[in-house]
Amino acid sequence: MKQQDIYQQNDYSYYLQVHNRYPITLVKGKGSHIWDSNGKKYIDVLAGIAVNSVGHCHPRVRKAICRQAKELGHISNFYLSKPQAQLAKSLSEHSGLDRTFLCNSGAEANEAAFKMARKYAHSKGRGGTIIALENCFHGRTLATIATGKAKHQEGFEPLPGGFKKVPANDISAIRELITDEVAGIIIEPVQGEGGIRIMDEEYLQQVRELCDTHDICLIFDEIQCGMGRTGTLFAFEHYNITPDIMTLAKALGGGLPIGAMLSKQSVANAMSYGDHSTTFGGNPISCAAALEVLQILDKESLPQRAHILGTTAMQRLQEYARQEEAIIEVRGLGLMIGVELNIKGRPVINRMLEKGVLANVTGDKIIRFLPPLNISEKDFNKAIDIFIESLQEVKSEI
Ligand code: PLP
Repeated sequence: MKQQDIYQQNDYSYYLQVHNRYPITLVKGKGSHIWDSNGKKYIDVLAGIAVNSVGHCHPRVRKAICRQAKELGHISNFYLSKPQAQLAKSLSEHSGLDRTFLCNSGAEANEAAFKMARKYAHSKGRGGTIIALENCFHGRTLATIATGKAKHQEGFEPLPGGFKKVPANDISAIRELITDEVAGIIIEPVQGEGGIRIMDEEYLQQVRELCDTHDICLIFDEIQCGMGRTGTLFAFEHYNITPDIMTLAKALGGGLPIGAMLSKQSVANAMSYGDHSTTFGGNPISCAAALEVLQILDKESLPQRAHILGTTAMQRLQEYARQEEAIIEVRGLGLMIGVELNIKGRPVINRMLEKGVLANVTGDKIIRFLPPLNISEKDFNKAIDIFIESLQEVKSEI
C-alpha cells in the first residue's frame, strides 16, 4: 500500500466522518506552495481557508513559535503570560478597539461576542436578540449555527433562541426588526462562505447610525475578511466606521489556532470577573505567533499587496468572464475573490487539484480564491491559468 493510501485509510477508519476531504495527504508547506505525501507540489490559493495569509511556515512565525515553545507553553488564564499581554496591546493599537479577549477559534470568538452584546443590552434593561444576515457564516457551534443556513441546522434542534435573520444590504429589513429586544447585529463586511458578497458602504454606514441611535452593538465578524485580506488590515476601514465588537481568528495565528474578540470600552464595561473564560485561549505560543503575524503584515505591507494583486487578478478574471458564458459574476475585495459559475464548481476544483492547484468552491457554484497575501504574481497568474483551463475542460465534458 502506498503511504498516501495508508493515511487515507486511517482517516476513513478512525476519524469522525464529517469532512468530505480531497484524496490527498499534505506533508509540507512553504510560502504559497504545498506538497502531498507522494511528493506532488501544489500552488495553494486557498491558504487553509484564509488562514495562511503570510504563507506556509513563514520563517519569522516558525522562529517565534519555536522560541516561545522553548520557554513556556501553557499556564491557564489564572496567570498572565508576556505574549498575551503584548498581543492585546498590539491588537488595540492596530484596531483602535480598547479590549481584547482571546480564545481558540472563530466560532468561539463569535460566541463571546453574542454573550457580550447580550450582557451589555441587559445592563441597559433591554432584550438579547441578535440579528444576522442571510448567507452569513459565523461558525458551527450551536449558537453560531442558529444564525446560519438551514442545512447546517438540520438534525441539531432545538437551537438556542434569540437570533433573527434579514437580507443583506437591505436597511429597511433591519429597521423593521428594531425594538428594545435587539442587543446586537452581526455582519461580515465581506461574506466568505456565503459566496464573497461585499456589503455596500452606504448600507454599513446606515447600520452604524441605527446602532448608535438605539444603543445596539454592531458586531463585525472579520474572521475571514480581516487581517489584511481585503486590502486594509481590517475590512471595516473600507467603510469609515468602527464596529463596537470585532471578531478575528483564521489568519491571526499564522497557522496556529487562535481567536479574538475585540470591543470598545463602553461595551466591555458590561463584563465582570467570571462572566466568560477559556482554558486554552490566549495560549502563549499562539499569541507569540499572532504577534509576529501582525509585525509581518506591517513590515511586508501585505494589506497593500493584497489590494494591488487582488485588483489585477479581478481585472483579469472579469475580462475573461465577459466572453465565458459559464461565469455569472466575478466579485471580490483585495485577495478575497469569488467567481460565480452557472455550473457546479466541485468538478472544476477537482480538475485544478489534479493540475496542482488548491482552491475551493462555496455555495456549490462559487470558486473562491483566498491565496496567501505574499503569493508571487507569477504563481497567482498560473493558478488562474489553471482555473480557466480546468473550467474549459469540465465544460466540454458536460
Ligand atoms: N466566521 C467566519 C466569517 C468564518 O469564515 C468562519 C470559518 O470559516 C467562522 C466564523 C468560524 O471560524 P472557526 O471555523 O474557526 O470556528
